[in-house]
Amino acid sequence: MLNTYAQPHLFTHLENKISRLEHLLSSAPLTIYTRSPFNPFSITFVSNSVKELLGYFDDDFLDSANLWIENVHPEDIEQVLANLHRVLLGEPIIHKYRFKTKSGEWKWIRDRAKLITDKTTGKPLEIIGGWTDMSELIHAENALIKSQEKIHHLAHYDSLTHLPNRVLITERIEQAILFSDRENWNFALLFLDLDDFKVVNDSLGHHYGDELLRQVAARLENSLREVDTAGRLGGDEFVVILSNTTAHGAENVARKIISSFKEPFNVEGKVLSVQTSIGISIYPENGRDSNMLTRHADIAMYQAKSAGRGQYCFFNFKMNTHLEYRLAMERDLREAIHEKQFLLYYQPQIDLVTRKLIGVEALIRWQHPQRGMISPVDFIPIAEDAGLINPIGEWVLQQACDDIKTWERAGFSGFKVAVNLSLRQLQAGKLFEKVSAILQQTGVDGSRLELELTESVMMENHAETLDFMTQCKDLGIHFSIDDFGTGYSSLSYLTKLPLLDILKIDRSFVQEISKHSDANTIVSAIVNMAKSLRLNVIAEGVETLEQLDYLTECGCDTVQGFHFSRPLNYETLTAFLQKEQT
Ligand code: C2E
Ligand code: CA
Ligand code: CA
Repeated sequence: MLNTYAQPHLFTHLENKISRLEHLLSSAPLTIYTRSPFNPFSITFVSNSVKELLGYFDDDFLDSANLWIENVHPEDIEQVLANLHRVLLGEPIIHKYRFKTKSGEWKWIRDRAKLITDKTTGKPLEIIGGWTDMSELIHAENALIKSQEKIHHLAHYDSLTHLPNRVLITERIEQAILFSDRENWNFALLFLDLDDFKVVNDSLGHHYGDELLRQVAARLENSLREVDTAGRLGGDEFVVILSNTTAHGAENVARKIISSFKEPFNVEGKVLSVQTSIGISIYPENGRDSNMLTRHADIAMYQAKSAGRGQYCFFNFKMNTHLEYRLAMERDLREAIHEKQFLLYYQPQIDLVTRKLIGVEALIRWQHPQRGMISPVDFIPIAEDAGLINPIGEWVLQQACDDIKTWERAGFSGFKVAVNLSLRQLQAGKLFEKVSAILQQTGVDGSRLELELTESVMMENHAETLDFMTQCKDLGIHFSIDDFGTGYSSLSYLTKLPLLDILKIDRSFVQEISKHSDANTIVSAIVNMAKSLRLNVIAEGVETLEQLDYLTECGCDTVQGFHFSRPLNYETLTAFLQKEQT
């Protein structure tokens, strides 16, 4: 009796359950299928959302045993079969491949499959899997790669002439050094500066000047072999790297370039006669690194200029008055460390939403007893070369932490202080021990501190850098990547640095905003990319309202630059903080 009532009830209950399940399956963003482990190409069940995904009806799959395998992209088939084999061996697999939809388009799908076995006997029962649409993700990935390539191009090539820019030239010189050392070659660096370019620019305007520079670039490239590199440093300064050559070879090329300038240029109907002066330095005699070689070729170029237009000149060490300057500078720096002639300035970083100060960057200054205030741009590279950056860097950290503590005592604490680190400081080792000792001794919490590393620092000693960062993170210290876009600019390595918090867009990009629509695209691409990696973005060198507005529109988080404030000394920053509080 009970049964006759129970049966229909159970039946409708089951039916309801199935129809709910069907509904769930068809509305999920996942198309579920099963296959037999004994005939793994053929699909034994597939949810009807497959129509939306691949254009086929579920019945199409059930009717045609090879429909699935026949429509896998030929380039992906090998990998797909290998993965299927692994599934049959019991390994759960997630893989992506292209599949031809009913309408004939290729679509990326993600396939996740698993073998189900009988719990007691262990016999294979069926393969259960799900397909999801990957196309959008893949498109987004491709778009990201494209914008990465674009950023890379902008960072390495001069936008006017499309020749390699300073960054790429430096890289090429470094490569030439490696080659020369390995092969026991010499190579030459030519430094070119146009004669009277300023006259063209000033009298005819930038438009003519730009076009002239383009033609100069083309003429320069025509005078060179495939293996040589011509690049533009900026303005009317060009360099040429001549690989595997002697002084004699370099002289020939210099002559050839100078004579190629004898023919006047025709810029939009105007005939312009322009010549070039060339300075030459030879590796290794005239310098062992790219900095030295370039500076020495530059000095030789000045010598050539003073000899008249259209001349070339080799560098020799007698010209090297600046070597003495450098030695004097090193001596003074040692004294400066001893006599504590340094000062720390702080530049405010402003949150774009609240328009409040959320951090400051500590920037060092050198108060020289005779020569007055010296910019870090002029002494940090020398300190690095002379092995003096370590005591200087330590002083900066100590001073910054002392200042943080004094501000805290005065009731100012809601902001971070960013300190620049140089590669040499990391290379010297024991940096973490030094940082943590300073924090401990001053009683400053790690979370108040941010350390700025440049791309090149992150690239070198990758493992050591990661170790250092990991240890610092445990103390709550934040990390930012400085001057982003000027260095290696391979964005993919950013994803390998999970410990980063902040990306600082280099000033050179910010200052191009609106001058070049390209720069706008790049800035917004960098912001988007940073966001997708969950990094905060600080734009550096913001000087104008126009730049500020564009950055706000892009979704940039924070700005730093003269528009809000120049770097301030301790007292002035304290006044700034006080003013903010009221
Ligand atoms: P940086 O880390 O990129 O610092 C930003 C530089 O941009 C600062 O120059 C700052 O004064 C300047 N700046 C900020 N806003 C603007 C703006 O709106 N327009 C323009 N044109 N410039 C702006 P500064 O202080 O001369 O420092 C130069 C570089 O020296 C720094 O570049 C950094 O690489 C290095 N440096 C400074 N302090 C230290 C330090 O303590 N340790 C190390 N290792 N390097 C330092
Ligand atoms: Ca910095
Ligand atoms: Ca910077």
